[in-house]
Amino acid sequence: MPQDFAQNVLNWFDHHGRKDLPWQQNPTPYRVWVSEIMLQQTQVKTVIPYFERFMDAFPTVEALANAPQDEVLHLWTGLGYYARARNLHKAAQRVAGELAGQFPEDIEALCALPGIGRSTAGAILSLATGARASILDGNVKRVLARYHRVDGWPGQSAVHKRLWQIADDYTPTERCAEYTQAMMDLGATVCTRAQPACERCPLAAGCGALKAGDQAAYPGKKPRKTLPVKSTLFLVARSGQGEILLEKRPAQGIWGGLWCFPEVTDVEAGRQHCLDICGAAPAGLAVLERFRHTFSHYHLDITPVVAELDGATLAVMEGDRQLWYNLRQPPRVGLAAPVAALLAQLGDAEGAGDELASAPHQPDKE
Ligand code: SF4
Repeated sequence: MPQDFAQNVLNWFDHHGRKDLPWQQNPTPYRVWVSEIMLQQTQVKTVIPYFERFMDAFPTVEALANAPQDEVLHLWTGLGYYARARNLHKAAQRVAGELAGQFPEDIEALCALPGIGRSTAGAILSLATGARASILDGNVKRVLARYHRVDGWPGQSAVHKRLWQIADDYTPTERCAEYTQAMMDLGATVCTRAQPACERCPLAAGCGALKAGDQAAYPGKKPRKTLPVKSTLFLVARSGQGEILLEKRPAQGIWGGLWCFPEVTDVEAGRQHCLDICGAAPAGLAVLERFRHTFSHYHLDITPVVAELDGATLAVMEGDRQLWYNLRQPPRVGLAAPVAALLAQLGDAEGAGDELASAPHQPDKE
């Protein structure tokens, strides 16, 4: 019975659910929305300090809407999946402008905002207003797929539809906010990916996967495919003062709006880029060890080429598209993950009076 399912989950929540997360305090639609976007693909403990810094900088949707994109991306640096931050910024501008600062109170209108899907919209409505709205994030998919032994990868539309139907059937009319939080907590802390703790699960009595002993089979895996490999060179042009040349990426495409080393096709193109941008040929060029950065759809092999530009200044500065990055006083801009790591390494090497020996290896996020 759907009522029994929800009641068991709510009883469990009363004793074991999380109630002290920062976004659970004063859960306005704005705070819930920011937390939900940050929590996509990212664990709670990682999100908490980002959320707190974000709220300190942008306590209201208007503050976020009025912030420069560089500042938004700067506060997102390290969380990865930067389209989330760009969409958050765009949606804030819509809410603050066209909607006079008020978040819509129905699913369809919320879903019309950039970066908000049906599950995020459901979480905003239920957690912030207590309205009856269902969610189906990764945690909830796992719980429901196991409970009902739903075959197939949830990315397939028939499977997705079936899971939504189940999620909707179970969503109660009373205490919907607590139920939503409880389902997320249950997936994150009990029905975990690798080792579900079925012995302390409030759904154990009716769980199909537990009965069959095949919890690991659900949810079905995405069909694997081999990722293609692309390669590029990062030109790390360093001025006589030790500053590093960065360029802003176009708004569209990978690392959109973030600051990055200039990409060049080969060492000669790197030398030419120095001449074009700085009006000086590098005094020295060093090719560093290649490293791999993996996106969801391809691997990118990156070879850093360090160009020493003793005494060089920028001959042509394209306004807000280029900057000299000062390692001792870093500007507040958004950086792509491998760029941030490489800059940190350059900073360490500089601090140690050392040369940069090899490039960093990167996490799987962007
Ligand atoms: S009984 Fe086990 S597999 Fe079933 S929902 Fe609970 S934790 Fe998940």
